[in-house]
Amino acid sequence: MVERVTRAGRRIGHYQLIRQIGKGGFAEVYLGRHIHLQTLVAVKVLHTSLQSSAVKKFRREAQLVAGLRHPNIVQVLDFGVADEAIPYLIMEYAQKGTLRQQIPSGTRLAPTRALAYLEQMAAALDFAHQARIVHRDVKPENMLLSDSGQLLLSDFGIATVIFDSINTATPDVAGTAAYMAPEQLRGKPQPASDQYALAVVAYEWLCGVRPFRGSFAEVAAQHLHTAPQPLRRHNPRLSPELEETVLIALSKNPAQRFPTVSDFVSDLIASQQSRPRQITRRPSDYRDADQPVEAEDNEQAADTHTRRNLLMGIGGGILLAGTGLGGVALWQYEKRKNGEEINSSHMSQLNTSQPIQQGTLLYKYTGHTNYIYSVAWSPDKKRIASGSADHTVQIWDAYSGQNQKIYGLHQDFVNCVAWSPNSDSTTVGSHLIASGSVDHTVQIWNANTAAIISTYSKHTDAVNCVAWSPNSQCIVSGGADLSAQLWRVSDGITLIKYDKHKNDVMSVDWSPNGYMVASASRDNTVHLWDAKLGNNIFTYQAHKDFVYTVAWSPNGNFLASGSNDHSVHVWSPSSAGNAFIYTGHQAAVFSVAWSPDGKYIASASYDGTVHIWEALNGNKLYIYRGHEGFVHCVKWSENHIASGSADRTVQIWQAI
Ligand code: AMP
Repeated sequence: MVERVTRAGRRIGHYQLIRQIGKGGFAEVYLGRHIHLQTLVAVKVLHTSLQSSAVKKFRREAQLVAGLRHPNIVQVLDFGVADEAIPYLIMEYAQKGTLRQQIPSGTRLAPTRALAYLEQMAAALDFAHQARIVHRDVKPENMLLSDSGQLLLSDFGIATVIFDSINTATPDVAGTAAYMAPEQLRGKPQPASDQYALAVVAYEWLCGVRPFRGSFAEVAAQHLHTAPQPLRRHNPRLSPELEETVLIALSKNPAQRFPTVSDFVSDLIASQQSRPRQITRRPSDYRDADQPVEAEDNEQAADTHTRRNLLMGIGGGILLAGTGLGGVALWQYEKRKNGEEINSSHMSQLNTSQPIQQGTLLYKYTGHTNYIYSVAWSPDKKRIASGSADHTVQIWDAYSGQNQKIYGLHQDFVNCVAWSPNSDSTTVGSHLIASGSVDHTVQIWNANTAAIISTYSKHTDAVNCVAWSPNSQCIVSGGADLSAQLWRVSDGITLIKYDKHKNDVMSVDWSPNGYMVASASRDNTVHLWDAKLGNNIFTYQAHKDFVYTVAWSPNGNFLASGSNDHSVHVWSPSSAGNAFIYTGHQAAVFSVAWSPDGKYIASASYDGTVHIWEALNGNKLYIYRGHEGFVHCVKWSENHIASGSADRTVQIWQAI
């Protein structure tokens, strides 16, 4: 720790510090002015000098947050480390200060005003969750008001990094106990923890008091074991529906909350306006808040549940329908659109006698309860495996959704799925699925029975991507631990640990001849490396921001890489990386796929569309707009495309 002295009047980076405007637990905040541009900013300077490893983590966290551009998220503009290893962040300046300053503790808000604020925070949180970032410290102190009255969420993940560096004994327990979800108190924050925290804020605004009060230990114990008082005890004018909605978001078990934060707030708004809500049944663990929660340890119950499912999976090849912590909502979730029910038996007609128009929806799969992060076609092109933030991988017939199987052994978001390319049933690697998760594991399992075969657990952070070698013998997996690991499927032995990336590895792909691996990273580069020796062969550095996806052309001559800089580059190592650049998207490109003949590329983006264009000249042929949310993944098979989205659907449609 260095002594705290005011830095007003000093210069930090390119900014002159004008005056101190705030002070938090970890940092002082100054109004700053850019020395050349004269623009006003907020400069957050940490109290603490950090160890070099923590600075590294802080830098990564700052890079991640700087990549989040949303009207309800405070824009991080710059980051640096001042003398004495003191990190600082340059942020957009929010003139009106925090909501805590505007709304002192104990103030009850009119529901319409509270809901308007909650809606903006839900939009910010869902956006971050889709970028796989959990805030971990949602509270009115971190909600800032802009000049125009817009609410801005600040302080993503920063508190945790600092807290971890000071208090290494209890990683991931940072934040304020008053708003902290039970699983976060146990050191396992997840997106649903942000929903819980926002529900505490909703409770506070609607009732004028928070659900739990007392010392840190007392409040923490209540979050873990005590049901909150019904809201109408404090404010009898609230409707029973509004009360029920907040209590669902305050469920002890994250799987019992709403699938997304916006679902929670949409339900609040529907309750307030006496419109039909999305909930059709109370969750199974919802109990009258008057009843104390019995001596039940949710985590233990969930563990038992998981173990039981695991045993079932191994013993009998029985298909799993979700684990306790697996996040599969146990209650019925029904989405109504224009009064029409969409359900998983929805099927579009596949009329093979006439030519099908480009973009025609052939089938929409709605079996997932949260964002779809990854899709894979079976080698015979008849089935799809889809991986989701609902913690499951689901296998289903691509054109009917039938023969559905649910794999539920992951303990967190499933980021990636890959189907072994070898479909010869007599050889190793036939009909196997590899799925990677935020739970740090890659699991190998049988696509026909959904029975687990093995778990690869050598990653020390979330697994973001997996790819099978063309002969199905090996897998390369990449993750938030900055490594790409190449390992043998038969015994899980790591053959290569490629550690030359400086940030999360987001995407991996084998060259079609199996000699090289391409890995794309949040360090803005794509590396090509030797699949036998592990040495770097070529580094592509022309992207201006995170690279989220990379794919080899079917003939192995080109690569396509998509980035947070909104572009797709088509390039070749043999021509020293010279690229054709496709700039048709209006937001980050999260996934690219080549047509099997190598003529076209499909690119999926945060702008909610999939574009189809000619691979070598970028002529745009078609824009698919069938999704209602960010499109995370796209895969090509013959003339059809499977795309998965934040709207929780996988859509199969005519590509060309
Ligand atoms: P924090 O360390 O984030 O709790 O910030 C401490 C105080 O600094 C807050 O209560 C705000 O008053 C002020 N503050 C933080 N960030 C900003 C910002 N981007 N713009 C204006 N004021 C800020």
